Amino acid sequence: MTRRVTIVGGGIAGLTLAAALDPQRFEVTVREAQPERSVSGSALGMWGAARKVLQGLGALPDVSFRPTAGSLHRIDGRRLVTARGPGPVMVDRPTLLAALEGAVPTSVTRVTDEVTDPSSLDADLVIGADGVRSRVRGLVDARAADRVATPYVALRGIRCGAPQPDEVGEYWGGGLLAGVVPIADERTYWFTTHRSALVEPFEVSQVLDEARERFVTAAPVARRLLDNAGPDTLATALWVTPPMRRYVHGRYAVIGDAAHAMLPNLGRGACSAIVDAATLAATLNSGADLRRWQARRVPATQAARLGSSAMMRTALAIP
Ligand SMILES: Cc1cc2nc3c(=O)[nH]c(=O)nc-3n(C[C@H](O)[C@H](O)[C@H](O)COP(=O)(O)OP(=O)(O)OC[C@H]3O[C@@H](n4cnc5c(N)ncnc54)[C@H](O)[C@@H]3O)c2cc1C
Repeated sequence: MTRRVTIVGGGIAGLTLAAALDPQRFEVTVREAQPERSVSGSALGMWGAARKVLQGLGALPDVSFRPTAGSLHRIDGRRLVTARGPGPVMVDRPTLLAALEGAVPTSVTRVTDEVTDPSSLDADLVIGADGVRSRVRGLVDARAADRVATPYVALRGIRCGAPQPDEVGEYWGGGLLAGVVPIADERTYWFTTHRSALVEPFEVSQVLDEARERFVTAAPVARRLLDNAGPDTLATALWVTPPMRRYVHGRYAVIGDAAHAMLPNLGRGACSAIVDAATLAATLNSGADLRRWQARRVPATQAARLGSSAMMRTALAIP
């Protein structure tokens, strides 16, 4: 019998799931609140397991680029250690989302609307792929319904021109973090994080002004990138999910940031979302028990959630 699956959220997790579910077994609907995707610049590091899933779905973008070395520096630019060898493949987010869109079968019904009450959805299974503000999460575990604020804001941008090889890497310390990564087409992806009392919704210019003040003694490359950053910069307050012991309850399940939104320090959030979706689809396609999927994914992703917070604390605490 065909089962009806509604996926709330058509981001990285939701589209991966929609692409990987067997259309012969499931009638799939994706409900996405945003009518259009942001084209603002940010890139994602894709690690091996996520790349393998994307490759299998024919959704690994061609424009991927792989840095071969990067250094960890103190925030003022003094190099601490250099790592050589292939890092994660860098893909820009709009390109990844477009590739995933292309992998979703035409049999999947697409609806543009914000789901306000997932309990009212007419489906056998409701999957929350609705990010850190998830409305489905509370139906899986009422104690985990609310997202958790952190004291950090992040800025991200892409600019033309590749960075100098000795500038590539991360810059940690004094309550600040910055990153400089070469991406395809001779471009640079950069990011910064600092503590902030600014409350959303904020203007990008406010966050940029604050960051320029805080990074005034940081490495020249970080200052230059901030000084040249324009209104297309992404400014985001960082939120995480509370700890969760289950991702499945009754007809509800959560994947991706809805289940384990984490600080970005390990570069694993989107990768984990892709692996969640692919493994959930494989479990459903084979008719196996969802609790077996949950037993594998909860420890792996909750450990990453904790690990990324620990890494943020370490990075900012370096004198
Ligand atoms: C600064 C920063 C840097 C990062 N760098 C990396 C990196 O290098 N590598 C990496 O792997 N990860 C990285 N991440 C994490 C990554 O961005 C997230 O983990 C990933 O986007 C999660 O995907 P998702 O589909 O689960 O959630 P989201 O991307 O949040 O997508 C959720 C979707 O659901 C929709 N939605 C929400 N609520 C509703 C509703 N009620 N009804 C209908 N639709 C709804 C939203 O519009 C959205 O499209 C970074 C994150 C940040 C903040």
